[in-house]
Amino acid sequence: MKLEQLPMNQASRCGAQTRSGKKCQSPPVRGKRRCRMHGGAAGSGAPIGNTNALRHGHYTAEAIARRRQLSELIRTARTTLAQIEERR
Ligand SMILES: [Zn+2]
Repeated sequence: MKLEQLPMNQASRCGAQTRSGKKCQSPPVRGKRRCRMHGGAAGSGAPIGNTNALRHGHYTAEAIARRRQLSELIRTARTTLAQIEERR
C-alpha cells in the first residue's frame, strides 16, 4: 500500500509555502483552504463587499449570474422557436 493512499495522508493540507520552502502540512481551517497561520484565521482576508481589486466587474458573482440567466433565456427561446418550426 502506498503511503499517499492512507486515509491519514488524504486529508487536505494548507499547502502554503513555509519559510523552509516546503509546503505547509497543517490542516486548513474548516471552510477555508489555508491553515490558521496562513490566512485561514477568522477575520483574515478582505471584508465582504471590498472592491479594492475590482477593475471591470466582468467576473463578479452578479455579472456571471446575469450572463448565465441571459444564455438560459436564449437557450429556451431557441428551443421554443424550434418547437414552433416543427409544428408548422
Ligand atoms: Zn499553513
